Amino acid sequence: MKRRVGGLETEFGLVCVRADGSRALEPEEAARELFRPVVAMGRSSNVFLRNAARLYLDVGSHPEYATAECDDWWELVAQDRAGERIFADLAASADQRLAEAGHDARIHLLKNNVDSAGNAFGSHENYLVDRRGEFTRLPRYLLPFLVTRQIVTGAGGVVPAPEGEEGGRFVFSRRSDHMWEAVSSATTRTRPIINTRDEPHGDPTRFRRLHVIVGDSTMSEVSTHLRFATTDLVLRAIESGRALPELTLSDDIAAIRAVARDLSGTAPLPLEGGGTTTALEVQQRWLDHVADLADETEQEVLETWQKALDAVRTGDRSWASTHLDWAIKERLFAQVTERKGIDLADPAIERLDLAYHDIAPQRGVFFALQRRGLAPSILPDARIEAARTVAPTTTRAHLRGQVVTAAQEHRVDHVVDWTTLRLTRQGAMPVQVLDPFTTQLDAVDALLEEIRAQGSPATPPPLA
Ligand code: ATP
Ligand code: MG
Ligand code: MG
Repeated sequence: MKRRVGGLETEFGLVCVRADGSRALEPEEAARELFRPVVAMGRSSNVFLRNAARLYLDVGSHPEYATAECDDWWELVAQDRAGERIFADLAASADQRLAEAGHDARIHLLKNNVDSAGNAFGSHENYLVDRRGEFTRLPRYLLPFLVTRQIVTGAGGVVPAPEGEEGGRFVFSRRSDHMWEAVSSATTRTRPIINTRDEPHGDPTRFRRLHVIVGDSTMSEVSTHLRFATTDLVLRAIESGRALPELTLSDDIAAIRAVARDLSGTAPLPLEGGGTTTALEVQQRWLDHVADLADETEQEVLETWQKALDAVRTGDRSWASTHLDWAIKERLFAQVTERKGIDLADPAIERLDLAYHDIAPQRGVFFALQRRGLAPSILPDARIEAARTVAPTTTRAHLRGQVVTAAQEHRVDHVVDWTTLRLTRQGAMPVQVLDPFTTQLDAVDALLEEIRAQGSPATPPPLA
């Protein structure tokens, strides 16, 4: 697919603590407070927003934001960052209500990957792929790429040192230890790298949705962008039908853990067909392989990807330590352990790791680094702000965004999901948008007219 639709789902960790750091509210209670304005507006804790994203409370009290369908990866980054801001505002207003009610309680939303109790949260990538393509062929080529991608786009973190050794060890990704299967149709229990549940959110005769479960939640716009841009190129190569790098690993799960722990990128990874490869080799082979598929605007992706690999290969982190999450964290942790005379296993580092992923603009360590020029700010602030209320214009998200915006402004009850737009009045006909690339439909224009005729204009609610 030359043009591909994708979306990013982020599950946030939620903790509600007192000023002294002790737990103030159970997550269920805190989540209820967090979602109060959402429920007041949409009568549900599962709503679609004006920017066509889905905001909901998943089982286990994990607030989730799923971006609208994007066909441009910088737009996807903008939509993802907009989600952070929407949730950060919800948390701030919940804190205010809690304070007014006399509670010593503050809600932290963490765009991270693993909590201190060892639970892993999701950051699911969705890619539209052609139904006719050989879906069964996909994992074979995609898996080695995904297993080793963490040396570029991992969020970084610390795991306990192996038995018999002291302290902690810095890794590309902590999530690797929570992956148990390469491919499966279940998302929770078994934690596959690729989820094969067949839910295309589109015309099932034409499309499939590839669900990649292995990614870390990333704070750096460069890291998030690379996740989608490089995976998209690899998918394009697989879809092209040409000969591909044969790099099938003999044990994906053993490899993903080994890659996480090897900051040199050169640990030998046994290949199914005999011999070994390395994380650096797999990534470089794919980069070289897709180079001719990249158009002019994608040259930048190749260059950034190469810089990321060079940072691992040479150990020179001068670029990476201000651009890629894992390397930003690696430097930060090194500075703090040195200054405080502690090692990586110290609880202060675990707290710092969590604070890095705190999405409160004034509290989050990532945002503080950003203000000091130590983490990238690629997108202009105005673009992120706009993405809070404006859906991507080049996919069907545009239609959903128009309907939700009009329905909210005119206070007309409606239900939408990824493929369907409908008013709740009796006898209303649902409009199906089964092609994610559709941006104009007469039936939607008619729906918009009906909303305007039926509703009473009102000031838009405070929620995006
Ligand atoms: P759940 O998380 O509840 O298990 P789900 O995996 O279907 O459900 P959602 O949280 O609803 O996921 O998010 C779906 C994601 O897929 C969104 O980010 C959306 O933009 C994206 N998406 C929607 N349709 C398509 C499509 N046809 N192809 C690729 N991505 C899509
Ligand atoms: Mg989801
Ligand atoms: Mg999902």
